Amino acid sequence: MTKHIFVTGGVVSSIGKGLTSASIGMLLEARGLRVRMQKLDPYINVDPGTMSPYQHGEVYVLDDGSETDLDLGHYERFTNGPLTRDSNYTTGQIYLSVIEKERKGAFLGKTVQVIPHITDEIKSVIRKVGEQDVDVVITEIGGTVGDIESLPFLEAIRQYPLIAGRENCLYIHLTLVPYLKAAGELKTKPTQHSVGQLRQIGIQPDILICRCEQPISRDERDKIALFCNLAPQAVIEERDKDFSIYEVPLSLVSNGLDEQICERLKLSTQAPDLEPYNDILHRLRNPQHEISIAVVGKYAEHKDAYKSIYEALDHAGIHHHAQIRIGRILSSDIENEGPECLLGGYDGILVPGGFGERGIEGKVQAVRYAREKNIPFFGICLGMQCAVIEYGRNVIGLKNAHSTEFEKNTDRPVICLLDEQHEITHKGGTMRLGSQPAKLIPESLAGQAYQREEVHERHRHRYEFNNRYRQQFTANGMLFSGTSPDKALVEIVEIPEHPWFLAVQFHPEFKSKPTQSHPLFAGFVGAAIQRRKQRPKKMVDNKQPA
Ligand code: GLN
Repeated sequence: MTKHIFVTGGVVSSIGKGLTSASIGMLLEARGLRVRMQKLDPYINVDPGTMSPYQHGEVYVLDDGSETDLDLGHYERFTNGPLTRDSNYTTGQIYLSVIEKERKGAFLGKTVQVIPHITDEIKSVIRKVGEQDVDVVITEIGGTVGDIESLPFLEAIRQYPLIAGRENCLYIHLTLVPYLKAAGELKTKPTQHSVGQLRQIGIQPDILICRCEQPISRDERDKIALFCNLAPQAVIEERDKDFSIYEVPLSLVSNGLDEQICERLKLSTQAPDLEPYNDILHRLRNPQHEISIAVVGKYAEHKDAYKSIYEALDHAGIHHHAQIRIGRILSSDIENEGPECLLGGYDGILVPGGFGERGIEGKVQAVRYAREKNIPFFGICLGMQCAVIEYGRNVIGLKNAHSTEFEKNTDRPVICLLDEQHEITHKGGTMRLGSQPAKLIPESLAGQAYQREEVHERHRHRYEFNNRYRQQFTANGMLFSGTSPDKALVEIVEIPEHPWFLAVQFHPEFKSKPTQSHPLFAGFVGAAIQRRKQRPKKMVDNKQPA
């Protein structure tokens, strides 16, 4: 019988529900259990693919091409169970499916209602994941208890034990226990209210995880337990971790979370094998190198727009025992202040993916700076397209080289719309998406990094390198080191003369893990470490980015 864990959140958003859910998954896997993760999001968009990163952070792409919530990135980085289209549902998807059924006549004669039709649909998507060969399904409910949009999801998980058996279901509620400086104490009231609201819906949490800045005393824990109708040991402290997110699962273990989960769900397992995570923390605490990487993006402060890229850089740092300081550079600032002022002193420059014209020229300037100054450069998706534009303009002399995404009628369309995109009018889910194969030239940087001739990487784009220019770029020193197996699409470009200049049309950041750095990120960070070693010390000290 598959066990189900439902994770809800209370008091405020952004308290790390995704990371906590992923940590629970990781801990159960470390005990030898087969785990599947799932996220149910209350917003009405069918998926986050059409939302701005300001609204929603990064869109995380799975192998099967689904565009999902960024929490799925946490799940994939922490756990090994495969994620698919069934791993992320939104209110929009649920309603769409029910309404399509209604139009086909599936409910003829009946009034279609939130209960039971919408809640049945929600239960069916949970059950679908549980029907696979797994021990535990962890379903995280997005949003915060008390939101109007969350209600059908909470009602569905309230009903779930009626089909799966109460003994096979576990409710975990994550809340905030704030510290009030003026009063000099932790406040438990918001948690009491949040649990009170859940209980009104009919859900009594089994375990409460309390996110807090300050330690929760025994008295405070007893008080929370009493008011929330729980045994004191079911109140688990999750204190803020300033050093690293990898401390989270380890601190949850020391507070007894995984043991309680297994006890409650009657899962007899081995003790968790935490060696890989202890090793990660050891490497992070004892770095042998220190480097700085500039990520040149479009969004102020970058928000969560490049989440997986930062994570993948961290993983490469773990791989090389290196501490990486990441500079979040706004590309429009480069347009105003010039690259030297903002990028001087970095050991590597990365231009990530993106859409829209704002900041493009700043990105192109960043590529030029990296190319001319021999700074390791890594371009991802739009970053590769900028690298091609820059090479076209400044090396080959194609003055107006551009992408037709930004200049429809340019006479040098070095980047143009993919053939398959010409007829497409709908925006949602219509890009070239998901895992696609690429063949590599073995002796290229890419071939050396991957140590394979064929790789599968995830895509999310509408534009591509314009093959009309391939000959000209090759003749002028650019290497197309990876293409689709039929050679029709350029997947990787390199400049062999440069110490490390590589750009890819896909998103390698989605396949990097803390325990296994992505080969291209590892290669890039390795090159940045080399560059740091070769720079005179004085230069390093003078040009230390903030
Ligand atoms: N906007 C570009 C395209 O659609 C790049 C997309 C991306 O960086 N994900 O091709």
